[in-house]
Parts: sequence; structure tokens; C-alpha cells
Amino acid sequence: MYKIKLIGNVLIFVGLLLLIISILIDNIPLLSITGIVIVCIGFIFFLFFWKCPVCHKHLPFNGMIGMKYCPYCRNEIDT
Ligand SMILES: [Zn+2]
Repeated sequence: MYKIKLIGNVLIFVGLLLLIISILIDNIPLLSITGIVIVCIGFIFFLFFWKCPVCHKHLPFNGMIGMKYCPYCRNEIDT
């Protein structure tokens, strides 16, 4: 679970970084498109893999930081 969170966060972070850079440096369309695509991949990644390991339900995004127990089955999430 820890790796999934890390990979997803890195993807979203890198994508946003590219977006910000492309806005700051003279609006490079290719860079901003790449940024958006990477952010989307990050979200899709979470959508597929951010699940409870016990009941396999999708976990809420807002509980990502510090979530220790699944809100659905109350089992411990291995983060
Ligand atoms: Zn669960």
C-alpha cells in the first residue's frame, strides 16, 4: 500500500510541476499537455489501486493521509 501511495503521489506531483513550469515559462503547449496527462495517469492509478486489501472497496481520497483502518470493513490497511 505504501508503494502505491508513493507512486500515485509522485505522478500527480510531477504532472502538476510540469503544468506550473509550462505556465511560468511562456506557455509551452506540449509541456502542459504532458503535465495534464501525467496527473490523469496518477488519478487513474489511484482509482485502480487505492483499495482496501481486505474487502477491495475503493478508499476515499481525503482519508489518504494517516488512514489506518478501512472505513468499510474496519480492517487495518497496510500503509
Ligand atoms: Zn475494507
